[in-house]
Amino acid sequence: QSFENFKLNKQLLEAIKDAGYTKPTPIQEKAIPLALAGHDVLGIAQTGTGKTAAYVLPILMKVKFAQGDHPRVLVLAPTRELVMQIEEAVIEFGKYTDLRYVCLYGGLGPKTQIEKIKQGVDIVIATPGRFLDLYQRGDIFLREIKTMVLDEADKMLDMGFMPQIRSILEVIPVKRQNLLFSATFGSRVENLAFEFLEFPERVEI
Ligand code: AMP
Repeated sequence: QSFENFKLNKQLLEAIKDAGYTKPTPIQEKAIPLALAGHDVLGIAQTGTGKTAAYVLPILMKVKFAQGDHPRVLVLAPTRELVMQIEEAVIEFGKYTDLRYVCLYGGLGPKTQIEKIKQGVDIVIATPGRFLDLYQRGDIFLREIKTMVLDEADKMLDMGFMPQIRSILEVIPVKRQNLLFSATFGSRVENLAFEFLEFPERVEI
């Protein structure tokens, strides 16, 4: 397999080459075509498997840039560290596009984050708590979300984020694509997957 076999555009293929990726990892091989085809995906994969690129590349392929100022993609992750890792992937693979994104996490004042949202963003990468705070303050418009990702879902549940995730699911459009990644697949993740995903394709490595 090679990245050229996926329906990715020139800008992404060039950025992948720059990153030094020569071929997709197993999780990428399985998840990327499914996500590009519009399926909901349940990915069981640990850190280190290339799971981030497995959803970031399809997202960057599908998000239509410069279509209004409200976000179309929401990525939730358990920690600030993971949000920043996802940001690195978004910067790396988005380098030949004009995408706009914002990272939202606690631990520092929301002022610069709110400023960035106001300037218009395509993608939001956030921890559930800070995201919900800003949404409830009226700082984020969610009606145009078309894709939602839950990364390290098991860790988000361990950290007690289920209520926040539920509240967020209640306020984003029902018609959307969902991608859920988790290192483990116990009964709680299974319940979340049942609530969150519609006819998911399950990929495991
Ligand atoms: P992740 O599992 O997403 O945390 O990725 C783990 C590491 O693997 C990161 O440093 C990525 O940059 C790297 N990586 C992901 N996909 C590939 C690939 N196809 N080829 C080489 N390195 C990769």
